Amino acid sequence: MALSYDLHSHSSASDGSFTPAELVHYAQKNGVDVLALTDHDITSGISEARQAADKLGLGFIAGVEISVLWRKHTLHILGLNIDPDNTELLAGLDKIRQARLWRAQEMGHRLDKAGIAGAYEAAKAISKDGNVTRTHFAKFLIAEGHAKDMKQVFKRFIVPGKPGYVAGEWAQMEEALAWIAKAGGISVIAHPARYKLTASKMRLMIEEFIQAGGQGIEVVSGSHSQEESRRIAALARQYDLLASRGSDFHDPAIPYINMQSLPALADDLTAVWTAWQ
Ligand code: AMP
Ligand code: MN
Ligand code: MN
Ligand code: MN
Repeated sequence: MALSYDLHSHSSASDGSFTPAELVHYAQKNGVDVLALTDHDITSGISEARQAADKLGLGFIAGVEISVLWRKHTLHILGLNIDPDNTELLAGLDKIRQARLWRAQEMGHRLDKAGIAGAYEAAKAISKDGNVTRTHFAKFLIAEGHAKDMKQVFKRFIVPGKPGYVAGEWAQMEEALAWIAKAGGISVIAHPARYKLTASKMRLMIEEFIQAGGQGIEVVSGSHSQEESRRIAALARQYDLLASRGSDFHDPAIPYINMQSLPALADDLTAVWTAWQ
């Protein structure tokens, strides 16, 4: 039987609910053979996850999900099979984390003006030692009764046009790809169907990604429908991109993102893991 690869997941180093070690145990229980930890703009969970995976005999790939600003769109680029200690990568991620902290404070000011006090401090506390993300603001807003669930809280408060939204000053695409390359990794466009790009914008984005040295695209994602996966698979074939598969697991309380029910990659695609087998 072919191994089951899940090359996109989050721990408490960013906005996942499990510690890196808990996540690795959870993945093994849920039928994953090889897991990549890909926290947002941070690699601090990797050594704990790798140790836990080695102990359990689970395959482990070091990764990261980098926030990128491309023509006013926020994109996520995965770096897979990276050296998490590479100094250029770490310096780049450090720069994004500064931008993250600034944005979180700014989100706090905006929410304060909208009559919701203490959001930054609360989100920071919920994130513990990890990166502060919109997910942490969402948790605070739900706990305070401003919305009933994740879906509603994003829609009402922290997406463009809403009171708590602040655009992040993320990395340029070329920068992110250069850091990943320096760290020996493969860069992959994460959940491409999520960006609400027109078909021609999507092609332009992929072409610029390839021009900057990008190699892969996430075809199967926990946040793609079957129809979206088919559409992205066609782009992977057209542009000869390596195909990736990842749940984007954060939290068992988000039921539609599930490690067990993730579909397989179509056989004719070149899977990204063939590059490191
Ligand atoms: P940030 O990188 O701080 O902007 O936070 C983005 C994170 O928020 C994503 O990685 C998701 O985990 C989460 N997120 C974004 N939109 C939604 C949504 N509509 N519902 C639930 N979670 C979301
Ligand atoms: Mn996230
Ligand atoms: Mn993402
Ligand atoms: Mn993700």
